[in-house]
Amino acid sequence: MSGEELIRRGVIENFAFPGKLVEEIPYGSGHINDTFRLVFETEQGRRRYILQRMNKSIFHKPVELMENIVGVTSWLRKKILANGGDADRETLNIIHARDGRPYYLDRADDYWRAYLFIEGASCYDKVENKEDFYQSAVAFGHFQGMLSDYPAETLHETIVNFHNTASRLEDFKAAVERDTCGYAGSVQREIRFVLERENLAHVLGELQAEKKLPLRVTHNDTKLNNIMIDDKTGRAICVIDLDTVMPGLAVNDFGDSIRFGASTADEDEKDLSKVSCDMELFELYTKGFVEGCAGSLTDKELDMLPIGAMVMTYECGMRFLADYLDGDIYFKTHREGHNLDRCRTQFKLVADMEKKLSAMNAIVDKYR
Ligand code: ADP
Ligand code: MG
Ligand code: MG
Repeated sequence: MSGEELIRRGVIENFAFPGKLVEEIPYGSGHINDTFRLVFETEQGRRRYILQRMNKSIFHKPVELMENIVGVTSWLRKKILANGGDADRETLNIIHARDGRPYYLDRADDYWRAYLFIEGASCYDKVENKEDFYQSAVAFGHFQGMLSDYPAETLHETIVNFHNTASRLEDFKAAVERDTCGYAGSVQREIRFVLERENLAHVLGELQAEKKLPLRVTHNDTKLNNIMIDDKTGRAICVIDLDTVMPGLAVNDFGDSIRFGASTADEDEKDLSKVSCDMELFELYTKGFVEGCAGSLTDKELDMLPIGAMVMTYECGMRFLADYLDGDIYFKTHREGHNLDRCRTQFKLVADMEKKLSAMNAIVDKYR
């Protein structure tokens, strides 16, 4: 047994799993946490669990983060049971440590947590067909809907100013000012693109401050591989990966999904003629999300869905550009100018969405 495995065994003993451990293997294709699948033999048969070592370089407030997950999953569990659903499959369920806490802190200062394994369902890394994308929309909409009466202000902001676009803009301006690598002169066009659209950085925050957009529980990592799809029915049954659950705006979750899910090209495509917002995918996601939310979005939230897509794309683009100017210190890069290529695709998408705004609004109107 490897030293790592021995350590994990020590960790496992600190959780209240029933039965005898018969298997533990690295599991899944998540990029953030270290995930393992455990199998226990009990008198009732085999039971499976997920064990995760949380990524401490990304999550600096693991206790608050777990408090958020406890709050949200226990809320979901109650709602699912009240609706006659299968709460062991339709939400994550935390297995507590033996000391009653929802995590275990080991001697190396690593935080561990465990969940029931969601049986009979799978995660997919890539959108293979349009139905998958639609299913993810329904799932994230449903998640939003079930949590629409959750007191979002009680959640911890575990990553401060995560989607505060105005503060991201200030960070961006500071990066231009620093011009650490001396690149600013060569990317004037891109810098201008950001500065000409400063209104996009403020519009959502202002509506929120005026209480025209409600504070919601947001997921903030609405990728396809963070939902589980039932192997038999092909329908999304559960939203997972709740590390970035925070108080925020529903339109941000929607917008970020459109940003990466409805683009016709990869995030780092060099040929910008290939980059646009696919309106068929936009419609599919809008339909699924609005259906999933089941009437819980306000009129203003529905009005602002297309702007949400634009703002999230604009914000992401300026973050790529700021990181390029800073010398690629935040986003991993795999080639020269990678962050610059990324920012260009985002800005191309924003420009495309600007042209398509009235068509996007018409699509929202069709499903509201
Ligand atoms: P990361 O933040 O690293 O993406 P995730 O929480 O998404 O971590 O977990 C990684 C993978 O582990 C998921 O994509 C999924 O395949 C699997 N997984 C996570 N939780 C469960 C669960 N409760 N039941 C079954 N599989 C799970
Ligand atoms: Mg994940
Ligand atoms: Mg994650």
